[in-house]
Amino acid sequence: ERKETATMIAAHELLKKFYHHLLMHTNEGEEALNYLLQRGFTRELIEQFEIGYALPSWNAAVTFLANKSFSLPLMEQAGLIVKKSGEDSYFDRFRHRIMFPIHNHQGETVAFSGRALGNEEPKYMNSPETPIFNKRHILYHFHEARLPMRQKQQVVLFEGFADVIAAVQAGISHAVATMGTALSEEQARMLRRNASSVIVCYDGDRAGIDAALRASETLVEAGCYVKVAMMPDGLDPDEYVRRYGTDRFRHHVLDASLSLTAFKLEYLKRGRHLQNESERLRYIEEAVKEISRLSNAIEADYYLRQLANEFSISMDALREQMMVYGKKQV
Ligand code: ATP
Ligand code: MN
Ligand code: MN
Ligand code: MN
Repeated sequence: ERKETATMIAAHELLKKFYHHLLMHTNEGEEALNYLLQRGFTRELIEQFEIGYALPSWNAAVTFLANKSFSLPLMEQAGLIVKKSGEDSYFDRFRHRIMFPIHNHQGETVAFSGRALGNEEPKYMNSPETPIFNKRHILYHFHEARLPMRQKQQVVLFEGFADVIAAVQAGISHAVATMGTALSEEQARMLRRNASSVIVCYDGDRAGIDAALRASETLVEAGCYVKVAMMPDGLDPDEYVRRYGTDRFRHHVLDASLSLTAFKLEYLKRGRHLQNESERLRYIEEAVKEISRLSNAIEADYYLRQLANEFSISMDALREQMMVYGKKQV
């Protein structure tokens, strides 16, 4: 059992080097390398993140692993190859994809995610759950981010690979990503053990905002102090860095991140025409409802005061409305 997982990891390490070599030093890898360079990934970043390329072949990985004397049934269990149904033969799981190696806490390679070069579906294909890849316990770039996280007592949480890589380019080494799935309780606890505060920096689209709110709840339950970075115009962090540069990303996005409550209040404003009286009143009502959920009376008072100032409403009126939502007076 123990020996088998060690073998699975060894296979991942070798295949990672093989994929990386194909990307950097072969004609077959040129299209993929150009794609990455065009997207703004530098060669240094590609080296640092050990990005690779899987050939458009059905048996390149199978042959590579067999030549290194790995047992193919074990490689299938490791998620690297797939068994043809009803036959005793195997084919490559990842074909014609940009390969992002995924590491465990010890920095061992335990999975891959492969990105299509164009608009093929699925955009990303991940290794399945295996004895060495427990998705609930793994965050992308956690191993590298751990020390800077501890030193800064802060971590920046992203959705995707490209976002983490763009962040590192911007000098944000305390960056990790969920890889598209909901943040698990285990992942939230992993972050809490290494940093007291988390900046959630998800995509600026509807799905990203909803996911950011859900992840924030999970983080608060794990005891993290949560801030949320607002991405403008539906951009994701990677696109933002490419468009506006790393300085602006650090100063206008990360440094400008909001407390969770301020983010929710800002989010409630979206799409509302606040110059319209009834919409303004509706917003104030929903904002008070949101503030009434706060368990901390000082915080509640703080946001209530902001609301009072912003809309020239008396604190008395706002406090009275708070009581409608079952909150004792603050
Ligand atoms: P890119 O910048 O390369 O287009 P992205 O990270 O912006 O990718 P999103 O669509 O925002 O892609 O998805 C966020 C993350 O969710 C991805 O980085 C990936 O980890 C995961 N993901 C996206 N699509 C899939 C998929 N079809 N299957 C599995 N995971 C996916
Ligand atoms: Mn997205
Ligand atoms: Mn994205
Ligand atoms: Mn993106």
